[in-house]
Formats: sequence, C-alpha cells, structure tokens
Amino acid sequence: MTKESYLIGDDPWVIGEETHIQHQQLLHETLFFQGNGTIGMRGNLEEGYRGEPGNTMQGTYMNGFFDSLPIVYGEAAYGYAKSNETMLNLPDAQGISLTIDDEIFNLDYGKVLNYKRELHMKKGVVTRLIRWKSPKGKEVSIEIKRLIPFEMMNLALIDYRVTPLNFSGDVMISSTLETSVFNKTHDNDPRIGASIQGRLLIPEKTWVNNHCMGAIHRTKFNLFTLITEVDHQHTFKDGEVIEEFSDDGILAIKFHGWAKENVTYGLTKIIAYHSTKENTTKSLKETSRQALEEAKKLRFNEFENMQREYLKDFWQKAFMEVEGDPLIQQGMHFNLFHLLQSAGKDGATSIAAKGLSGEGYNGHYFWDTEIYIFPVFLYTKPDLARNLLMFRYKTLDKARERAREMDHKKGALYPWRTIDGSESSAYYPAGTAQYHINADIIYAIKKYVEGTGDENFLKEFGLEMILETARVWLDLGHFNPRRNNHFEIYNVTGPDEYTAMVNNNFFTNAMAKMHLLYAYESAKWFQSNSPDEYRSLMNKINMTEEELFNFQRAAENMFFSKDELLGIYPQDDSFLNKPKWDFENRPKEKTPLLLHYHPLNIYRHQVLKQADVVLALFLLSENYTIEEKKKNFDYYEPITTHDSSLSYCMYSILASEIGYDELAYEFFRKTVRMDLDNVLGKTHHGIHTANMGGAWMAMVYGFAGMRTNNINLSFSPSLPKDWKGYRFRITFRGSFIEVEVKENQVLYTLLQGKSIEFYHNSQCCRLWEEQPREKFSIAN
Ligand code: BGC
Repeated sequence: MTKESYLIGDDPWVIGEETHIQHQQLLHETLFFQGNGTIGMRGNLEEGYRGEPGNTMQGTYMNGFFDSLPIVYGEAAYGYAKSNETMLNLPDAQGISLTIDDEIFNLDYGKVLNYKRELHMKKGVVTRLIRWKSPKGKEVSIEIKRLIPFEMMNLALIDYRVTPLNFSGDVMISSTLETSVFNKTHDNDPRIGASIQGRLLIPEKTWVNNHCMGAIHRTKFNLFTLITEVDHQHTFKDGEVIEEFSDDGILAIKFHGWAKENVTYGLTKIIAYHSTKENTTKSLKETSRQALEEAKKLRFNEFENMQREYLKDFWQKAFMEVEGDPLIQQGMHFNLFHLLQSAGKDGATSIAAKGLSGEGYNGHYFWDTEIYIFPVFLYTKPDLARNLLMFRYKTLDKARERAREMDHKKGALYPWRTIDGSESSAYYPAGTAQYHINADIIYAIKKYVEGTGDENFLKEFGLEMILETARVWLDLGHFNPRRNNHFEIYNVTGPDEYTAMVNNNFFTNAMAKMHLLYAYESAKWFQSNSPDEYRSLMNKINMTEEELFNFQRAAENMFFSKDELLGIYPQDDSFLNKPKWDFENRPKEKTPLLLHYHPLNIYRHQVLKQADVVLALFLLSENYTIEEKKKNFDYYEPITTHDSSLSYCMYSILASEIGYDELAYEFFRKTVRMDLDNVLGKTHHGIHTANMGGAWMAMVYGFAGMRTNNINLSFSPSLPKDWKGYRFRITFRGSFIEVEVKENQVLYTLLQGKSIEFYHNSQCCRLWEEQPREKFSIAN
C-alpha cells in the first residue's frame, strides 16, 4: 500500500483500492479516470458522494471541446492573448442510484461489507465490486463496470448489476443525466484553472422518452453545440415500471421491479457525446442517434472483447517489462495506459497536460506533447504520432495569424498553450515568450520522418510547417555586428520558467539552430527529389531561395557562449551574473516557489524550475561530449527545484548517460510513480502526461541509452542496481525489435519487419529474418 493514495497490491496490470477513503477521493478520481482520447471521465462514484464538500470533482470532458473565455486584464497591452480556450466539463451522465425498498445505497450509509475498485489495464475496464448491508439489514452485491471504447470514440458505457442476497423486494435503479454543469473555479493556483465565472455550457433543450434521455447545450462564447444522449439496455421485464423524470436540470429514468433473492438485475448505460464547432444541431442529432443504435447492437461483453483486442495490440507493440520490481512495472503500465487514454487520435486534437482526467491547466496542449509524449508513440504507435503532428498542421493558419499579431511579417508562430490553435496564455513571460515551441514541434517532425521514413508526410504537410515556422527565427533574431555578426535571439524564455525574458537562452538558440538547418536541408532535399512539388510549395508560401540561404546562414552563425572557468554553457547571457537562490536560508516549506514568491524575485536569481541546458544536451545529444554533459549537469542540477513535473525525467536521462547511476535511478523512481504516489501532491487536479512520457523516455533513452541521429539508431544499455533485467520493444523505420537487458548481457531481437542495422555502444549490429537475434555483453 502506498502512503499517499491507499492503493493496494503490486499487480503490474491492476490498480486497486479496497476501501473508500473520503479525503483520498479527489486523488483516486484522477487515478481511476478512463478515456479513449476523445471522451474522458473522472472516476466519480455512480451513486454520488454525500461526505465533505470539496472531496469530489465531478468531471467528464471531450478532447478539443472548449469555450473561449475573454481574458480580462487589469492592464492590457497590444498583442496579449485575448481569450482563454477552456476545456468544458460536460453534462454528467455518470450517475446511477440504487434504492432497495425505501433505502438508498451509498457508501457512507448502511454498512460496506466488502469493497473493491480495480482498473485493469489489459482489459481497459474499471470494475467496482461492493457488498452492502442497508441500515434495515438487507444485503446486496453490486457490480459496476465502466468502459470507454477505444474504437467508438464518442461513447462511454456503464454496466450496473445488482443481486439481492438475503431478501426479495423492490429494487430501483435510477439512471441520471445532470445537465446543469460548471467548470471548477480557480483557487489561486495558476496550474488549476483560470478564473471561470458562471456557467459556460448553456442548456437549450432536454428530453426524456423511450428509455432515452438527452440534452443540447450551446457554449456561452463560441456558440458551439453539444449533444448528449443516454440510452439503456436493461433486464427488467415487461410490466415492470419505468418512470421518466426531469427536474431542475437532472434527467432520470427509473427502472424498478420486484427482485428475487439471488437473481441479478441490471442495466447498461450507453452515453454518447457529439459536438460541432458550429451553432447547429442539424446533423448532430442524426450522428448521435446512429452511434447509439450501432452501440445497442452489441452487448456489454462484446464491448469488453473489443476493448481487450485493441489493448492486446497496443501492449504487444508498447511492451515494457521490469524484472524484480513490480511497483515500477505497475507504474510503467499505468503511465502508458493513461497516455493512450489521453491522446487525441483524430488528427484534430492532441494531448492535454492533464490528459482528460481533470481541469488542471484548462485542458491545454503545450510542448509537453512534442517533446515528452511524442517519442513514446513514435516508437510504439507511429500512426498515432502522425496524427499528433496533423493537429499542428490543422492549426498552422492560426499560427500564421499569431505571427502577424506578433509583428512577424512572415511565417507562423505556434501558441504556447492552446486547444484549438489560438494562444491562451495570459502571462506572456512564461507563455508567448517561449518561442522554442516552434522548434519543439519541428524537432518532433524531424524525429518522426527519420524514425518512420514517412517522406510523404514531409512533402505533404511537414515542410510547410518547417519552413513557415523557421521564418520567425529570422525575424526574431539578428546578426549582431558587436558580436562578430553572430545570430542572436533576444527576449525569450526557455523551458525553465523560473528565468524569463532573457537574451540568447541556450536551449532556444540550440533548438533554433537545429530547426533552421533542418529547414534548409529538407527544402534542398525536396527540391532535388520532387522539383515540381517543391516549386509549388515555395509559391504557395511565397518563399525565396534567399530566405533558405538565410536559414543556413543564421544557423551557422548562431550565438553560443561557454564559460571557460566553469566549463559550462550559460543558460543565457545574464544567468551566471545573478546571485544563486539561497536554498539554505529560505524556508523549506515554501515550495513550489511559484506559489510563494513574486516572479521577479525568482527571475533575479540563479534557480531553475526544470531542465533547460540539460534538456538541450539530451535532445541534441550528438553535438555534445560526455565531459560537457557532466559539467553542465553538476552545475545546474543543484540549483534546480524540480518544481515542474517535466524535470526529473530529463535529469534522469542525462544522469544515466554520464554514469550517475544512483541519481538516475532516484529521479526515475520519482518519475515513474509520480501520480500513483502523488509525489508532487497535486494529482487530484489531473495526471501529469508529460512526466508519464518522460518515464518511458527515462527507461529507453536513460537506462537503455537509446539515441537516434538522423536515421541512425544506437543503444548503450545499463542495468539499474536492484533490477534483474528489463525488456522493451520499439518500432524503428518499419523494424519491430525487442531489447532485453540482463545482468551481463544484452539481447536484441528482430520480431517483425525489415532488417535493421544499429549500434550497441560502438559495435555495429545487423538483424534480419535469417538472423533475428544478437547478443552482447553489457559492458561492450
Ligand atoms: C512547466 C511547463 C509545462 C507546463 C504544462 C509547467 O509547470 O513549466 O514546461 O509545459 O507546466 O505541463
């Protein structure tokens, strides 16, 4: 049992609780959240919760469905983001209540004789098994299963079964739809939500008829339309009473009948959410009905089978095993499973910082997707990775608009945080100033093309993004005659949000250089590979050869400095001149710093929220020596607070590479079970998806030392001290391989696909159909 979350067991495939603890409820609602990338539901109790207020947060969300709230600034200035795209809390269809004669089932009423909730990650189902005795002594067993199908994206299902154990009597199962819903208002924590006043989802119409209930809502500002419909399959016989009911925004259908002892009664609730970004209900109604009719052709167990099949394929490709540490193994599965549940799969949505598990960060997508989560899908589910890039392509026009707004005459600037492509950051020093977002997206495209060989993507979509975003660097930076005409970039913020608005942030310059060179080189490749298409793209975006040449010139003259005394890359021009944050004499309990100190106070010190230089040294690993990595790690780690969940994983990767094995493992442990053990104390607002991706990265890039450089793949594996071994699988350029690391040996196996060549440390290894296996000793 973990201290923080009262989870039980170390089954690598199951997360379980055996008691319902009121003050842990918010946290467990997050941990037991379910989703399929389109719909997400927090693990709220069907019967509702009657304890302390504030211990629960009802939540159902739809990826990409939002309202744009006008941002009201006390003092505004030109170009500030105008509205905050906010993911909406949807009409709540999770409610099912049970009445036995005149007694209502609830966990804080009567006696709970047995209780268990389990999230099963191979099955993709959450099950609650309860044995309950009513105050008048009637015992029932209740089995509730929830499933959000990966293959019917707009649906959610709840299967509810009840069996009287020591009586026969009247049983009523009441299924509800709460149509009057609100988003959570903020509580002085910028990570939770903007100040949201009042209702954002306005009910326009509700109905209950024919065992079905539904509602149409319109968003307050955007006038988007949402239809929610709930249909049922049930075991109640003809003649038993079905009442339909609507009151005060709550719609209900009550199924009741005479239940015999030891006979099971039940219903399956089929919930459908469909939305449109237009003010119309026309085709929505049909789409919703069709989805429900399709779903009603299947029984719940058929949905279970489909779900299991889908997950079988996923786990086969994303296989990852740790021998000798079940809690780590459980954590790895949990992270991968929640990433799959959170990832938009339609090319029009992405992955929010909290997935679909809560309202933290307003449901926004950040660079978290491209830098922390994308690699997981790139090497385990490349089709999904492609769709994540398509989301950026879909929003390229908005990025162009934003660039104009920021006075860049040409090009595109992606937003720091967004749902639909518009900048939603009201605090520009840690928002719009993070220009590195452009390079982060292009870095993901580059890795995608290199790792899959999907040149069509590059031609059709990638290049347009690469070139348009590269233009912004030319406009933003300048060749400085006072510094040998080096190309310098001023007034930007790097990944470390405890340092803002600086000149020549090392990370930004390094990533911009990569971006500009890639833009130049891929354009040249396109020109020789498909000259006609190249010309039409250049015409479409009105780009000249001179611009391309300038990309190369800026990249080659990019400004970098090195502090000779310390042997490190200064984080920016002024960083090393600032006093260090006085960790010794500042109160320890005042963390995270962002909640206790004014930003200016933090900015004027050498103190980091998260990896910055160190992250660049990993992402662009091939450009730096081990010695450099070590010196920079030694300098920056002690002044990093790790107040961001994006930090430990990256430090863990670099620690592995420079041989700091114990530290690497310590950071990895904090990463891999960050949400399960509520390490940062804020998982109740939602999971940390970037960190979840970071945990996978810390295994694969950290312990196994995987690197990709253009189309070259290499490994340099090590084995953490307490482990007997570990295995994982990746797909690289059409070859599906397994890497197994044991005490003295590393085994590489080609499981499927094309032959592959890669490096084990400095030794070349080739696997093909006739010789699919190769062994090395670990130290080689
Ligand atoms: C981090 C950002 C991150 C955001 C969302 C912040 O705390 O500093 O780098 O993108 O959280 O996860």
